[in-house]
Amino acid sequence: MSNKRIYLSLCQESGFELEYIQNALKSNWITSGGPYVDQFENKLQDYFEQGSYIAALNSGTSAIHLALILLGIEDGDEVICQSMTFSASANPILYKNAIPVFVDSERETWNICPDNLENAIKDRIQKGKKPKAIIAVHLYGMPYKVDEVHAIADRYGIPIIEDSAEALGSSYKGKKCGTFGSLGILSFNGNKIITTSSGGVIISSSKEIKEKAIFFATQSKDPAVHYQHSEIGYNYRMSNICAGIGLGQIKVLEDNIKSRRENHFFYREIFKGIKNAELFDNDNNHFFSNYWLNTILLETKEEMESLRLAFEKSNMESRPLWKPMHLQPIFEQYPYYGNKVAEDLFERGLCLPSGSNLSDEDKDRIKGVIINFFK
Ligand SMILES: *Cc1c(COP(=O)(O)O)cnc(C)c1O
Repeated sequence: MSNKRIYLSLCQESGFELEYIQNALKSNWITSGGPYVDQFENKLQDYFEQGSYIAALNSGTSAIHLALILLGIEDGDEVICQSMTFSASANPILYKNAIPVFVDSERETWNICPDNLENAIKDRIQKGKKPKAIIAVHLYGMPYKVDEVHAIADRYGIPIIEDSAEALGSSYKGKKCGTFGSLGILSFNGNKIITTSSGGVIISSSKEIKEKAIFFATQSKDPAVHYQHSEIGYNYRMSNICAGIGLGQIKVLEDNIKSRRENHFFYREIFKGIKNAELFDNDNNHFFSNYWLNTILLETKEEMESLRLAFEKSNMESRPLWKPMHLQPIFEQYPYYGNKVAEDLFERGLCLPSGSNLSDEDKDRIKGVIINFFK
């Protein structure tokens, strides 16, 4: 058996990416925006339900930043954010000089806890400020409790930004993730379900919002012959080369989702026989996860760390779960509402190698490490 490194989450190429890149070079469309960007948006619009409008940007982070701008978030506004997530969900709140208010996870989906969400909203209102937006995340591809979370948001009239960066291909009650929020976002970073090397989109329900997003993403140029600006602009549009990679990748979107889910069933077989570790899933026909990453909970932090080292010794990458935002030095001064669920998950949780490109040989090696560790 080879000893090549097995990474946590790599994409699978379709083989068409290079052709798109070469064509972009030949046609001299080597800039932000362009025909491949339009085609990529159209392909994604076809993939999502009717009435979804896609604006392609240079990252998922810029998509969240523009989503906050589109919702009119201003200096000093409060924005609720799921604490257990990647920092890119929360950083844009600070770009806007707004105040993040972090909310704990619940144990079924590991996502924003409806009870704590409502407590947080009530308490913030009582303290004098109604939160202006909620950022909810489908972590590791698992949909959050959409009905419960949106019912609360609707009751208080607060828009939701749906961070679907990890959840392309996931769905809730048969409807695709990314289409529930006032705005949804996706990421095409190299570790996601499909990649454009770096990229992201905003999903909205109207052509006007899509156009407004593109307006902000291309330096907010007013209609004029000369360059005229009456709003702050950003250089956030996706490049034509990246969109070309995306067009190649979209051909394997369904295959990639399939291999991620097959990885999950591979791990399920292994962990069926292991008592001291619990593979995360949420077997329930309303929640369809792409299983972007497979994760397990061990009994203690020490055990989690020694399994991580065992993988490392065999040249395989595994990683602790996202460290909750309210525990991060940059965010620890901001309000937090919860019962330490995210803390507990972070203490004992490990992400397992889950790329779309895992071969049978890779899987044999992974299985060997796990079986040997728990023996
Ligand atoms: C990857 C990711 C993002 C940001 O995406 P980039 O394209 O890397 O900027 C945002 N939120 C979550 C939960 C992510 O995993």
